[in-house]
Amino acid sequence: MVLKALDIYKLLPKKNCKECGDPTCLTFAMKLASGKGDIDKCPYLDLNAKNILGASTRPPIQLVKIGVGERRFAVGEEFVVFRHEKTFYHPPGIMFQVSDIWPAEKIESVTRRVGSEHFVRVGTDLTFSGVAITNESGDPDVFSKAVGVVEATGTHIPEVLMAADPVVQEEGLKKCGNFRPLIYSATKDTYKPMCALAKKFGSPLVVSAKDLESLGEMTKLCNAEGITDLLLDLSFPSLRDYVPAATEIRQKSISRSAPELGYPIFLDTTRYEMQDTALVLGIDKYAGVIVTPALGPASSVATLTLRQNIYTDPQKPIQMNPGIYPVGNPGKESPVLLTVNFSLTYFTVQGYLESSRVPCYMFIVDTEGLSVLTAVAAGKLNETLVRDSIKKFDLENLVSHRRLIIPGYASPLSGKIEEETGWKVLVGPRDAAEIGDYLQKEWKI
Ligand code: SF4
Repeated sequence: MVLKALDIYKLLPKKNCKECGDPTCLTFAMKLASGKGDIDKCPYLDLNAKNILGASTRPPIQLVKIGVGERRFAVGEEFVVFRHEKTFYHPPGIMFQVSDIWPAEKIESVTRRVGSEHFVRVGTDLTFSGVAITNESGDPDVFSKAVGVVEATGTHIPEVLMAADPVVQEEGLKKCGNFRPLIYSATKDTYKPMCALAKKFGSPLVVSAKDLESLGEMTKLCNAEGITDLLLDLSFPSLRDYVPAATEIRQKSISRSAPELGYPIFLDTTRYEMQDTALVLGIDKYAGVIVTPALGPASSVATLTLRQNIYTDPQKPIQMNPGIYPVGNPGKESPVLLTVNFSLTYFTVQGYLESSRVPCYMFIVDTEGLSVLTAVAAGKLNETLVRDSIKKFDLENLVSHRRLIIPGYASPLSGKIEEETGWKVLVGPRDAAEIGDYLQKEWKI
């Protein structure tokens, strides 16, 4: 049962003592209702309240951390079925597969690539998450050596150790167990030794079974062994089964009707012929960890872009910090171009400015992440904001002239901005692609 904030509030001691870190019991109740609070922070809860609240306020999907250090990532702790209801919080870890029967140089090369490759998109660094080492040899020593090759690169990226045999698994863990790799996987036959390994090395564990009911039984068995950091293996024989199963898990865990399924999903795309399709389905539909063969350059960018888009907060435009951003090496006489702090606008305009080779200043004002057209229509971009931003960022001391280029779509504001600021306003083109030509022709001091 999901409790609302007021139901939770009724169970709290109502001392308003602030010991939980919140100013009142009501704010603490609201935090618990949103799944972000921790009932243990209130020292005055009686046992009955603890039992009721514990069952209803813990995140419906367990948060599981994989790896350590800078590249560590977390999956799970999601609260909605559909992204537009709120947002998705934890993007899936995408792991490039390497095999223990490959030559060491090949394993090393894929590992180093994941360690160093990154793409910058709308101001965010996008990377793949780690490597999954598969035990195709069946030999513990060969597996251990392959894990050793990954470790020797010093990249410290998260790992999945994919060995069905607990004996082989343990040899891999001896090489990297300190780094919290993900163990793949426990079955009905192997869950006891696999849980013992998960406990010994402090690692999260994937559970595998033939259907959802059996997966639920497996999580209960692992919980009884003391392991709660679990993922559910949905790499069923047919890819056709993935979306219905993943959707059922998400719906049942969010509604808390099947808490035994409240864990992130694991998907191994290498099992399927249509691996790209599997990867896209995993990103779109709830996967927490996805194993894929190493992707080529075009697929890499497409995959990371898709993941970034799905996991961007739909209620919050991606924003730049307002301020002055130089392009090239501008000086006192360089043009100043005003635009909004919607990231896509910023990066689009910046790209065209860079290719124009006219050094200039981008003057970014705070429209709460709205695009130019929307900000003008909503009154967020106005003459007062421009006047205050000129003062705030000391634009008057940055350049010797008093001329401001505004976006074409902001032309209705040109007169008002001139009156309010005393700066001469030049109306730039509507299409950012024309900004280079515009500057070449129009900017003269
Ligand atoms: S610690 Fe407990 S009693 Fe005190 S304010 Fe927080 S919820 Fe209320």
